[in-house]
Amino acid sequence: MAVNGAVERLVFLGPPGAGKGTQASRVAAHLGLVKLSTGDILREEVRQGTPLGQKVEGYMKAGDLVPDPVILEVMEAAMTRAGGKFLLDGFPRTLGQAESLDQLLAARNWSLDAVVLLEVPDEEIVERLTARRVCPRCQRVYHLIYDPPKNDEVCDECGTPLVQRPDDQEEVIRRRLDVYRAQTEPLVAFYERRGLLRRVNGQGEVEEITRRILHVLGEA
Ligand SMILES: [Zn+2]
Repeated sequence: MAVNGAVERLVFLGPPGAGKGTQASRVAAHLGLVKLSTGDILREEVRQGTPLGQKVEGYMKAGDLVPDPVILEVMEAAMTRAGGKFLLDGFPRTLGQAESLDQLLAARNWSLDAVVLLEVPDEEIVERLTARRVCPRCQRVYHLIYDPPKNDEVCDECGTPLVQRPDDQEEVIRRRLDVYRAQTEPLVAFYERRGLLRRVNGQGEVEEITRRILHVLGEA
């Protein structure tokens, strides 16, 4: 932590569908940090056609995972642009990436202030995601419980019957949760051993969850 006690560098972990991106944005804004989301940064490099972006695009087009050294290079550049004050969302994803991140931070005399783990039970994630529907015509997204269309499963904007994305089907969600757990458990143990892990209950209202996160960070 910095001399004045301000939080400058955070990692956010949490299962898909836990609302991690939303909370990461809110907490970053509150603390004056730049939110660095791996997916967004990779897409932006590709869009700008940078040398790194061209490398990334090559892997994506071939349907391959972007290898760790490339991801690290992209993230290092982004952390530097952020002036060392950032919230990492979606990185590190594996123990190997966490170890590389440590080396990268140490080389700059930076350290992590905390790692926030947003916890939501599988059953609730399945319930949240399987209720999502999208309009195949105008792409508007609905939620059958929290943001339902006015008429049964028909788009409010254009009257088109809503569909469920293949990604939002229960089997697919459960598989993603299994992959997440297998990848993340070693990471959780790694940060817990260093006393950096902060577990936060990710169930409830958006504002309340933000408050809990700021509280465990000593910021509220
Ligand atoms: Zn529509």
